[in-house]
Amino acid sequence: MSSALSASRPARTAASRPARTALTGSPAAPDLSGRAVVVLHAHPDDEAIFTAATMRRLADRGARVVLVMATGGELGEQLAPLRPGESVHGRRLAELEAAAELLGVSRLVLLGRRDSGMMGWPSARHPRALARGRTDRLARRLAEVIDAERADTVLHYDDRGIYGHPDHVAVHRIGALAAAMTGAVSYEATVDRDHLRGRGGTHLIDAASGHTGDYGRAGYEIPVRLSATDAELAAKRAAMAAHASQIAPAAVGGDGFADTYRHEWYLTSHARGILTELAATPS
Ligand SMILES: [Zn+2]
Repeated sequence: MSSALSASRPARTAASRPARTALTGSPAAPDLSGRAVVVLHAHPDDEAIFTAATMRRLADRGARVVLVMATGGELGEQLAPLRPGESVHGRRLAELEAAAELLGVSRLVLLGRRDSGMMGWPSARHPRALARGRTDRLARRLAEVIDAERADTVLHYDDRGIYGHPDHVAVHRIGALAAAMTGAVSYEATVDRDHLRGRGGTHLIDAASGHTGDYGRAGYEIPVRLSATDAELAAKRAAMAAHASQIAPAAVGGDGFADTYRHEWYLTSHARGILTELAATPS
């Protein structure tokens, strides 16, 4: 199942893609017209929490941002009451579409798997639960999107799924395998736990991890840190706020928002790549 936010898809050939910008030390912002990046996430709201500023910057520089959402987030909490006749799935999809538009997403692809819930929950045994899905089949579907878009880069999660959620770990496996299948450069979203602890731990991931603090990576392990401009941060705040059923207003309205959410962090084994360039050239 998939839906397109925009039917416009620029026609292009592989030959028309510009060569990757070299890391010359120049502060000039790269023009990413003709480039495409596929961003894989587990649940609606993850894209806003972990990669919103990156997606906004990619789109602003001309890249085509393709968001692939693995599940409908069926087991998320409901902070806002459903409207008459509205389903959790429908609400979360509407929130996702609003956030995607705020972040400049050109195409939204839904993999149609079901939220597995946290480790040990019976929901993980549901036949459509993402954590039960075959990694090779799902990676093939992602690879087909990467190939169809002629994307050279895929974003997914670190090998612990940032904080251990079974669906996030599945996203890591699927993303890593699809990158290997296609040759796309892989960036794994994580968080800098040293930074977040130093800032008081108000990031949503602190609660999601059960206050164990067991999430992300130590700062020195993370090679790529993208710091949002004020405009990018505003887009991120709006995208998070669009997920009103999942994210309380207090999480996006406080003075500490910028300190906590301005940065986005990525692991990669590639010395060069689109996010490495972007992180080095803030607007
Ligand atoms: Zn999630």
